[in-house]
Amino acid sequence: MNKCEQLYEGKAKKVFATEDPEYVIVSYKDDATAFDGLKKGTISGKGVVNNRMSNYLMKLLEKQGVPTHYVEELSDRETVVRKVSIVPLEVIIRNVSAGSFAKRYGVEEGIVFAEPTIEFSYKNDDLHDPLLNSYHAVALGLATREEIENIKNMAFKINSVLKEYFKSLKVTLVDFKLEFGKLSDGTIVLADEISPDTCRFWDSETNEKLDKDRFRRDLGGVEDAYEEMMKRVFK
Ligand code: UDP
Repeated sequence: MNKCEQLYEGKAKKVFATEDPEYVIVSYKDDATAFDGLKKGTISGKGVVNNRMSNYLMKLLEKQGVPTHYVEELSDRETVVRKVSIVPLEVIIRNVSAGSFAKRYGVEEGIVFAEPTIEFSYKNDDLHDPLLNSYHAVALGLATREEIENIKNMAFKINSVLKEYFKSLKVTLVDFKLEFGKLSDGTIVLADEISPDTCRFWDSETNEKLDKDRFRRDLGGVEDAYEEMMKRVFK
């Protein structure tokens, strides 16, 4: 499949049309942003890690019965995916307190929850992705009640598959963000990416951070953390 015109350029990826309207090609960049785009930088090699890791995890999820947009890896940075219209919700699952959860509720990071939590935010840059609940999402026409129920079930299923998988790599899956898309027939599939940009990964023995928090918080060793996750996945 060949790259045709560029359809879109986001913060971390470019999307190109192909000859087939049902498929697009995603190209992963090394550009990194944080704090609503206020912090900008480059994480050398990130595009390769995110592309390959995300594809690996999508294949794993497909085997467990989770439909995804993944089609074929073309190269280290480029992948063919099903063309979807993105449901404008960021779906966040948490197993351990961290980040905005810890800040919002005034708790420390590292509290292991008895059950995972889910939250949604409205994917809208102008509004800075405000938090909303499922009723708000239906009221705004972002998705139907049935679609949200489906997304919720898929998100928890994805969490149980990934949590077990990362445990076997001695990594705690602290939290992560998912995005879902709709195929032309209305089927909802997992889209976007699953990578150290979108997940918090802590070494399960030392709690060392192996994800984008090293960039967000200026902890140093950013590239090494992405490489370490890559090594564990492709051991
Ligand atoms: N996340 C993301 N994109 C966003 C916001 C969050 O991928 O725009 C991921 C983030 O990497 C973390 C999880 O979602 O794994 C929960 O993030 P949180 O709400 O704690 O926000 P943050 O502290 O990153 O602002």
